[in-house]
Amino acid sequence: MAHLNFAREVLFMPRPIQAHIDLSALEHNLQVARRATAARIMAVIKASAYGHGLLRAAGALRAADGFALLDINEAAYLREAGFRQTILLLEGFFSTDDLALAAEYDLACVIHNPQQVAMLDAYPRRGNLQVWIKANSGMNRLGFPPQDIPAVLEKIKAHPAVRDITLMTHFASADEADGVVAQLEVFNALDTPCRMARSLANSAALLRYPATHADWVRPGIMLYGASPFAEISAQQLGLKPVMTLQSEIISVRELKAGERVGYGGTFCAESPMRIGTVACGYADGYPRHAPTGTPVLVAGRRTRTLGRVSMDMLSVDLSSLPDAIAGSGVTLWGSGLPVEEVARAAGTISYELLCALAPRVHMAGFSQSA
Ligand SMILES: *Cc1c(COP(=O)(O)O)cnc(C)c1O
Repeated sequence: MAHLNFAREVLFMPRPIQAHIDLSALEHNLQVARRATAARIMAVIKASAYGHGLLRAAGALRAADGFALLDINEAAYLREAGFRQTILLLEGFFSTDDLALAAEYDLACVIHNPQQVAMLDAYPRRGNLQVWIKANSGMNRLGFPPQDIPAVLEKIKAHPAVRDITLMTHFASADEADGVVAQLEVFNALDTPCRMARSLANSAALLRYPATHADWVRPGIMLYGASPFAEISAQQLGLKPVMTLQSEIISVRELKAGERVGYGGTFCAESPMRIGTVACGYADGYPRHAPTGTPVLVAGRRTRTLGRVSMDMLSVDLSSLPDAIAGSGVTLWGSGLPVEEVARAAGTISYELLCALAPRVHMAGFSQSA
């Protein structure tokens, strides 16, 4: 019997890598958004809530006024799970079937192109659809040209299936010095046949440009505790990191001067040093292009990665950490090491690292009592 239990334990022993999701930090960051605006808050939970797990994140963000995402199946799933808020499909529907499903589940739909208007035209039923008309105010990704907006609005307003229209746009550079001014001007000049709700702001605009708040703000990254700005940290914004990616040292060795580390031997020891191998690689979502020197915490102390990141492992410098041994805890990002710093070192942004967390990494939600 004891033997059987032992065997089972071995069979189910996971690799030591885990993503810890701090649900109280999600709630806290939503409160930070609340305090910054009087507008209704549409929590953006696309890409499985930026890699944090859809239902887990939506549950912690249940005080939001709405949820925005892309996948209609996920949206229907949220509705089935009991969420009563507005649920917005950020790219709208892709087919007439989607449209029928959106109506059935009371999903608000972005309409951003003439093909969607045509699908709506062909939609036979009366109904209760909430529609968000997207204007292109300068990002040139999605949305109708400003001059087309009045005609689109007139047409949609007259449609018997449409209950309610919100006018929206999206900023290209709310996080940068050139900001929102030009796009805000275009959006504010739009000609609408009657007063309707408006939505413009992502996290950066919410935090920096109150003039963009209007009726609905659409924060994403800030809810997950990362700063949308290069020059202001999440901590300075009062945000708490939600995801902490942790693993362990699984091997320790001494290098002589001239010895190399990892594929391609891109790192060469200049003098004798001590290094550790961490159970985390690019197949876990750690960026392969993170160079030597990318920050990492071992037993809570800051050190650096060495050489190339492999599929399942990476190497770290333990020369200044004589106490670090096989089994020492490693933080790849999160609590104590902002994901933005790791992203910057790897030449990318926090969004990409969070979204790229691999499904094979076990995630566990927890709450810190205040
Ligand atoms: C992703 C997204 C957001 C959220 O952006 P953040 O920078 O993460 O706050 C808001 N609106 C739209 C249309 C989006 O696609």
